[in-house]
Amino acid sequence: MNGMMMESQLTLTAVMRRALCNSPDSEVISVTLDNPLHRYSYKQAFARAAQLAQVLCMLGANRGDRIGTLAWNDHRHFELYYATSCSGLVCHTINPRLFPEQIHYIIEHAEDRWLFIDPLFVPLIESLEDKLSTVEGVIVLTDRAHMPDSKLANYYCYEDLLVNQPSSFQWPDLREESAAALCYTSGTTGNPKGVLYSHRAMALHTYGVLMPDAFAIRRDEAILPVVPMFHVNAWSIPYAAPAVGAKLVLPGPSMGCGETLSKLIRQESVTIAAGVPTVWLALLKYLRNSKETLPSLNRVVVGGSACPWSIMEEFEQQHGVYTHHAWGMSEMSPLGTYNARIAPSIAPKEAKKLRLKQGRAGFGVEMRIVGPQENPLPHNGTAFGALQVRGPWICERYFKSEESALTTDGWFDTGDVATIDSLGYLTITDRTKDVIKSGGEWISSIELENFAMTLEGVAEAAVIGVTHEKWAERPLLLVVLETGVKLKPDKILSTFQGQFAKWWIPDDCIIIDELPHTATGKISKKDLRQKFSEHLWPQEITV
Ligand code: AMP
Repeated sequence: MNGMMMESQLTLTAVMRRALCNSPDSEVISVTLDNPLHRYSYKQAFARAAQLAQVLCMLGANRGDRIGTLAWNDHRHFELYYATSCSGLVCHTINPRLFPEQIHYIIEHAEDRWLFIDPLFVPLIESLEDKLSTVEGVIVLTDRAHMPDSKLANYYCYEDLLVNQPSSFQWPDLREESAAALCYTSGTTGNPKGVLYSHRAMALHTYGVLMPDAFAIRRDEAILPVVPMFHVNAWSIPYAAPAVGAKLVLPGPSMGCGETLSKLIRQESVTIAAGVPTVWLALLKYLRNSKETLPSLNRVVVGGSACPWSIMEEFEQQHGVYTHHAWGMSEMSPLGTYNARIAPSIAPKEAKKLRLKQGRAGFGVEMRIVGPQENPLPHNGTAFGALQVRGPWICERYFKSEESALTTDGWFDTGDVATIDSLGYLTITDRTKDVIKSGGEWISSIELENFAMTLEGVAEAAVIGVTHEKWAERPLLLVVLETGVKLKPDKILSTFQGQFAKWWIPDDCIIIDELPHTATGKISKKDLRQKFSEHLWPQEITV
């Protein structure tokens, strides 16, 4: 027997309607290339999204068509999110940090019909124009005064197109299973793969993000996503903020600039901010030097890579800001787990251990770890295996792929290696391809890196497995020191003694000027492995 409830569709149009009804005056603040501080309300934002939807109709876009964006976090990109998805088009966000060949591949594979790009990316698209077989034209996200000259065909100025368009639009009734957005994984091996998000997945994921033991964003808050809108929909914050009516603060292209972030947080009374560890390192460094404080900021969410304890400690001790560790991935929209505030009654040593874990899955995500034969492993905090997940906002197959991306029994293999404890806390010990295999045993590169990052004077650290005749692989530690710091590799390695089993301790340490990062800001272990593949081990290794 079926239930007898309304068949109300879970769509992003409902998010927009709710913001218009309940929070029309809540603000969206943006740093853009043509305006250092643009400010307007959700009412104005959605009126412009309606104008843009009209423009998209005029350009001949039809249901299901992909509209590409190459843009940083600002109000025009926000308008695009809603104008495309809510009119039945697919908002295809493209990561401009990828190599041009990958961007070309992605646009062709997605069959984007129109591209909306920041002025910065005009030369990039000019260099690809001859090879883009599906793109009919390019719209630059700026006003007439800031339009770069270009010979691109069908080349338009965004603000010119919006002028005189009606500010209301007959938004179609969409089915919740229809596609809303498309984002390609950065693809460290092979070609990037498209994750095609449905309205239903985005709506449910928005609930997941807003849960009390997750971001818990309230209407009276201001949220700063320092995670790009071209990467997994900025962790869904552009949907979650209007869903509750919170103020949305969009930092534009200078996400890695501590000064810009500090200024925005203070001026706009930001209460919650989210981003990868690298951006917080930049902000904390700026605050250390400038002696500025962040009185409004209450919490930061850190994900994308493991969050070093030094970040959590400095935020809390110097600024009274609580750091929440979160884990997820493009294929999970991205939220998988969230480390909620630990009760003050828990002893500090125990609390530290818990906070370094990636957190617990909220309602909507189920997790398991499995061994080499897909045999489920116990959730005892020590057994570690391949992490698999399932739930309504997790990818079932990649865009245009005929094959399911799931195991035969319906789980998605994340490519991460992890432990889960008896209370459901997840600890990521590695990526399957980064784990170091020494003499048939696994060594977690992340645990070693986390420890190295706690050492005074260490700005960034990475541990990679390098081929070894006898042990197959051994861990090599690569360290970037803070400016002006002098530390000897031997001294760094000696601090590992007594902290780890002897056979886990890296056999060599190299100080380097900088670590390579991927297009999504993570340390590129692939590049490091290539660079140090011929590394000569210093002595005979007995472990
Ligand atoms: P992406 O799909 O590019 O967002 O990358 C997802 C991957 O980033 C995950 O599968 C993890 O390997 C890694 N990741 C994300 N969050 C964390 C975290 N908090 N700690 C460790 N690794 C993380």
